[in-house]
Amino acid sequence: MTRVTDHGAGVQSIQVPIPDNPLGHTLVYLLDTDRGPVLIDTGWDDPASWDTLADGLTACGTSAAEIHGVVITHHHPDHHGLSARVREASGAWIAMHAADASVVRRTQENPPERWYAYMADRLTAVGAPEEHVAPLLAALTSGKARPLPGFDAAVPDHDIVPGELLDLPGRRLRAIWTPGHTPGHVCLHLEENHPAGLPGRGRLFSGDHLLPEITPHIGLYEDPDDATVTDPLGDYLDSLERVGRLGAAEILPAHQHAFTDAASRVRELLTHHEARLTDLLTHLAHPLTPWQLAERMEWNRPWNQIPYGSRTIAVSEAEAHLRRLVKLGRAEAVAGSDPVAYVAV
Ligand SMILES: [Zn+2]
Ligand SMILES: [Zn+2]
Repeated sequence: MTRVTDHGAGVQSIQVPIPDNPLGHTLVYLLDTDRGPVLIDTGWDDPASWDTLADGLTACGTSAAEIHGVVITHHHPDHHGLSARVREASGAWIAMHAADASVVRRTQENPPERWYAYMADRLTAVGAPEEHVAPLLAALTSGKARPLPGFDAAVPDHDIVPGELLDLPGRRLRAIWTPGHTPGHVCLHLEENHPAGLPGRGRLFSGDHLLPEITPHIGLYEDPDDATVTDPLGDYLDSLERVGRLGAAEILPAHQHAFTDAASRVRELLTHHEARLTDLLTHLAHPLTPWQLAERMEWNRPWNQIPYGSRTIAVSEAEAHLRRLVKLGRAEAVAGSDPVAYVAV
């Protein structure tokens, strides 16, 4: 079953399934322009997802072959996965923020072995137990390091330039750089009156940055070639405030459903993260490694039920929170600790 929603004034969405994922689907948006339809995100690279996208485009009165361009909110495979197939079918250009485009290039240029070695080093440095690092090392020594998702993703044709209007004849779509969930995440502000006359300034395609019922994962910007200490959570919180100030009449997110009153959703998320940071400080009354902190943080299920891959993601979220606390002067690394431990100050 193809689920297509007409959002009015030349904007439709197609629910493209994400296999084996509790999120269920990506909302791929179709935006009419004077030069042909443009997609905002494309969905997960899977045969059934591709069929759903193709059927959805037919239901919208077009086809993959007619797509003029593809605008990507961020490089994750549930957003950028099918871009290569759309470009193959249509000759469409693909646009992405330069910071995420370089993640795509980096993922391709580094062999899987380099990523496994990098992850094993990082996990060891943050106090992961031997049994968590062992599968990575085993894959490395056996020469069976599997390619990671997204390693064959499409390299984009254009950069999305923050603050600028995209070249879409007949439409006013402005790129708002919202780093945090990824370094090059963008929201796209459709600066046109709301078709149903809702009060506010246009509509915002928010990607994973602003979602109605869930908080996006904020981890580290993984880069084996760059030792810069980034602050993704700080970036995210700044980006949230920026998006809140836009005053969009309606938010069109990449998962779940469209919603209004972005300002109160932004406030909710800011409050949530502030409460979480404060909560972490109570744990950090005694020194903890990022891994030990992750074990003590609140997740959607108890730590011993969190599967292997999700633990790796959880510990990178713990690190993002620690970096924020250090930057705010509320925590510090214990001198000489290895693996590194942090304590509240
Ligand atoms: Zn994402
Ligand atoms: Zn997503």
